[in-house]
Amino acid sequence: MDPLKALADAERKPYWLDSPAKPEPRPRLFGNTTADLAVVGGGFSGLWTALMAKERDPSLDVVLLEGRRIGWAASGRNGGFAMATLTHGIANGLERWPEEISTLERLGAENLDGIGETVARYDIDCGYERTGELNVATEPWQLEEMRESIQIAHELGIRFDALDADQIRAEVNSPTYIGGFWERDGCAMVDPARLAWGLRQACLSLGVRIYERTPVRNMKDIGTGMELLTPQGTVKAAKVALGTGVFQPLLRRLKHFLVPVYDYALMTEPLSADQLASVGWHNRQGVGDSANQFHYYRLTADNRILWGGYDAVYYNGGKIKPEYEQRDETFVKLAEHFSTTFPQLSELRFTHRWGGVIDTCSRFSAFYGQSHGGRLAYAVGYTGMGVGATRFGANVMLDLLNGERTERTELRMVKEKPLPFPPEPVRSAGIQMTRWSIAQADLHQGRRNLWLRTLDRMGLGFDS
Ligand SMILES: Cc1cc2nc3c(=O)[nH]c(=O)nc-3n(C[C@H](O)[C@H](O)[C@H](O)COP(=O)(O)OP(=O)(O)OC[C@H]3O[C@@H](n4cnc5c(N)ncnc54)[C@H](O)[C@@H]3O)c2cc1C
Repeated sequence: MDPLKALADAERKPYWLDSPAKPEPRPRLFGNTTADLAVVGGGFSGLWTALMAKERDPSLDVVLLEGRRIGWAASGRNGGFAMATLTHGIANGLERWPEEISTLERLGAENLDGIGETVARYDIDCGYERTGELNVATEPWQLEEMRESIQIAHELGIRFDALDADQIRAEVNSPTYIGGFWERDGCAMVDPARLAWGLRQACLSLGVRIYERTPVRNMKDIGTGMELLTPQGTVKAAKVALGTGVFQPLLRRLKHFLVPVYDYALMTEPLSADQLASVGWHNRQGVGDSANQFHYYRLTADNRILWGGYDAVYYNGGKIKPEYEQRDETFVKLAEHFSTTFPQLSELRFTHRWGGVIDTCSRFSAFYGQSHGGRLAYAVGYTGMGVGATRFGANVMLDLLNGERTERTELRMVKEKPLPFPPEPVRSAGIQMTRWSIAQADLHQGRRNLWLRTLDRMGLGFDS
C-alpha cells in the first residue's frame, strides 16, 4: 500500500497513552507542605525513586511533584524495550569503562530482574514479557560488527545466540535479514504507559503523596533542606531527587550536558492470524536492526506492530515544542521502511503516529550527581534507553541522598560526568554535521568519516 494511504487514518497521539487504563489525575498542590523527600518528575525516574524510597524506609514522608501527568513524556510513549544494559549497549560500556564492564552488566541484569519482581509484587498489568531482543543485520558490514559483539558477550558470560539468515528468518520472517543474534536475557517488553501507571499506583499504596499538574518553577536552599516553589504552593523537603529528564533543568549546570532529540514511532492495526503467521515471531522478541540509524520494533499484547526509530532529530536551537512531536517526513519514511521489511504486510494500516523527546548526553548513558551539600541528587541523560536503567538511576539517587557508599556509588561510571555539548550555535552545527555523517556511514558500509572518528576519539557522540 502507498505509505500515505497506510498512514491516512493514523491518529496523531502516542498509542500507549491513548488507553482506557489511563487513571484520573491526582490533585494539584495547593498550599504549603513539608516532606522528608521530594521527588520532581513523574516519569520512570521519579516513580522508581519515590517507590524505592518508601520500600527502603516506610516511615519516610515522600512527595512526588509532576508538572503535567504521570508518564505523559518519554516514559509513556516509548518502544517499551526494558533493557538490562546500563551503558546504552555493551560496546559503549566497554569503550568507556572497560574495567567495570562485567560489574555493570551484572548490575544491569539484577536491575532488570528487580523490575520483573516489582511488576509481580504489585501485580502491575503492563504486559511484561522477558523475551530478549533480536538484533538483525541487513548489510554484510553489520554482520562483521555483530561478530565482535557476540565475542565480547561470550567473554563476559552473557548469552548472545548467533543466528544465520535462515535461523533469524525462522524467528521473524523478513527478506531483508541476512543474520543476527538473539540477546536472550537482556531485554523485557512492557507496555510503558501501563508500567508508569502501575508504579504510580504502587507509590500511592505505600503512602507517597503525588501531585500532578504541579510544575516546580524554582527551588531554594533553606539550609536544613530545599524549598520547591510551584504555582500554588511550596514543598520544604530535607532531600530532593530530580527525575526531570530533558526538560528545563532546575539545576542550571545540567543544561550543558543534555540535548533534546526527537524520536518517532508508528503503530499498526492488529495483525490477523494469517498476517501474524506470515511473520512468525512466536517468541515475541523486541527487534532492532543494526545500522547507525536503526529501527526498533515489537508486538503488542493484541499483536500490533510498533515500528519506530531511524530518524533522531535535533531541532536547531534545542527547544522542546509540542509541534515537534509530529513529523510527517519521518512518518512516511518509517512507513516505507516497514513495507520493505515486511512486504507480506503491505496491506496493513497504521492507527497511531507520534514522537517524543529523549534526553541525549554525549556518552549515551545516564549520569548522576549531587548538589546543595548533598541534599539534592539527580540522574538524567538516558539517551533513548531509560525504560530499564531509570530504576538503577533511582537507586543511585537514593544511595547518594542517604550518604551511603555502595557498589553503585563507587562506580567510575557513576562518579564521572559526560563531556558537555558546546553552546549554540556551534552545538546545532556540530550535531547536524554528526547526523549527516552517521547517515553517510550507513550508506558506505559503516565507514566512519574523519568527523565521526574525531568525535569517537574524544568520547563525544550523538545517538538516540
Ligand atoms: C519515542 C521514544 C521511544 C523510546 N523507546 C525506548 C525503548 O524502547 N527503550 C528504552 O529503554 N528507552 C526508550 N526511550 C527512552 C525512555 O522513554 C526514557 O529514557 C525514559 O522514559 C526516561 O524517563 P525519565 O523519567 O527520566 O524522563 P521522562 O519520562 O521524560 O519524565 C520526566 C518527567 O519530569 C517532569 N518534569 C520535568 N521538569 C519538571 C518540573 N520542573 N516540575 C515538575 N515536573 C517536571 C516531566 O513533566 C516528565 O513527566 C524512548 C523514548 C522515546 C521518546
